[in-house]
Amino acid sequence: MTLSTGTQVKTYLNYINGKWVSASSNEIAPSVNPANKNEVVGYVQRSSKEDLDLAVEAAKKAQIQWRKLSGAARGEYLYKVANVLEQRLDDIAKTMTEEMGKTFPEAKGETARGIAILRYYAGEGMRKVGDVIPSTDSEALMFTTRVPLGVVGLITPWNFPVAIPIWKMAPALVYGNTVVIKPALETSVTAAKMVECFAEAGLPTGVLNFVTGSGSVIGQGIIDHPDISGISFTGSDQVGKQVAQGAVARGAKYQLEMGGKNPVFVADDADLEQAVDATISGGLRSTGQKCTATSRVIVQSGVYDEFKSKLLAKVREIKVGHGLHAESWMGPCASENQLETVLSYIEKGMAEGATLLHGGKRAEGEGLENGYFVEPTVFEDVYSNMIIAQEEIFGPVLALIKVDTIEQALEIANDVQYGLSASIFTQNIGNMLSFINEMDAGLVRINAESAGVELQAPFGGLKQSSSGSREQGQAAIEFFTAIKTVFVKA
Ligand code: NAP
Ligand code: MG
Repeated sequence: MTLSTGTQVKTYLNYINGKWVSASSNEIAPSVNPANKNEVVGYVQRSSKEDLDLAVEAAKKAQIQWRKLSGAARGEYLYKVANVLEQRLDDIAKTMTEEMGKTFPEAKGETARGIAILRYYAGEGMRKVGDVIPSTDSEALMFTTRVPLGVVGLITPWNFPVAIPIWKMAPALVYGNTVVIKPALETSVTAAKMVECFAEAGLPTGVLNFVTGSGSVIGQGIIDHPDISGISFTGSDQVGKQVAQGAVARGAKYQLEMGGKNPVFVADDADLEQAVDATISGGLRSTGQKCTATSRVIVQSGVYDEFKSKLLAKVREIKVGHGLHAESWMGPCASENQLETVLSYIEKGMAEGATLLHGGKRAEGEGLENGYFVEPTVFEDVYSNMIIAQEEIFGPVLALIKVDTIEQALEIANDVQYGLSASIFTQNIGNMLSFINEMDAGLVRINAESAGVELQAPFGGLKQSSSGSREQGQAAIEFFTAIKTVFVKA
């Protein structure tokens, strides 16, 4: 299982029908460290349609017994997975940092989040799943219960390689579905290590199947597979639309969580220290690669200059570097592709006439030569019709937009196709209520960064950010089950 490239680099396998197996093509793909492109973190399988078919067949077979278990019994497995993941937290977080670039504390935080999500859904296995509804027949009993969809296909992105797969897998499994998951190719080593925790916890054969490979082959294969009853997707808008079209064409249930262009509004009466810290944390942590990352910073004119100078003072302090180095606050972009996208948006911003206040280029310095590092970047003189104010950049780029009133702020904040997350910083209850009522976003946050979510609350966007269903919390039951209405008469 090891390939030699100087040092020993491990090759990770697919997990199908309870066994770790190579792809039928025998092809593998390297996973590269974005902080040092010369370092291969591991190799993963480049699977083909045949491997996916085997995984779906195994999941279909396993579903017959899995759905018969009680929710509590299925939850017991999730508690075991959580315990294994907890034991392996540091190792998996380190791999995540090496494979995707986010800093080690962030990777540990994400892995800990995965553990908490597993425990939360383990408990959900014992909660109520239906209602008793009075029948017009006084001698009958009428109630609802929930049934699993069957085999579900999960397609996940690279930016949260542990938390996003788990927030789909845990509810899928506890509600009685069996799973085929295809993680982003770029973070499949981290995903493989996470799946090892499920295997080690003794999940029954075939209940969880893991197939790595390209989106166009394995992702598309999940979209088209007649035995996959539901598809849960997180990723880009373009691919999300393909998932929806394919699912509608064959009558499968689908769920999409996609991009964002998340605003914060800093009102004249805001606590500026709080607003600055939340803008930096929300916009630049994880190198801006969160779907809920702050991108547009709308600031009321009375505090604009003061906010700007406080923000710049702190952005200048940000230390860019390898995510495993304790002094690094911001790691690299997750891939070369991602770096190029970010740099091209920065160029577009300058070409459109925005003023560059900080950053704007690849980050240079000792130890950064071979990585996809970019400087934290701040623009001003940004207007809503500019590309950098409209399109998701998915990088550490903040666009300052000056307004006079909260009405203007709301108009600009809503003037995008997305509606994922939005924050306001103010002490005024009227401003808060206007923002809560009029902001088109699935997550509205008052005096808190745009990028914080809690696992026990519903998560998802409005407008083009989402297909409208919600993940996490108790909301997850809506996608991963169907309601059955039962009428009983003696
Ligand atoms: P992506 O390119 O859409 O990839 C997402 C997943 O889809 C990957 O597993 C990818 O496989 C797969 N895929 C690619 N082409 C496919 C196809 N033709 N058919 C089926 N599957 C296909 O997105 P990404 O670049 O990884 O992730 C960044 C995006 O995700 C951003 O837009 C971000 O906003 C969004 N995101 C949203 C949320 C949310 O909850 N709203 C959370 C995180 C990220 P490969 O690995 O082979 O490309
Ligand atoms: Mg991709």
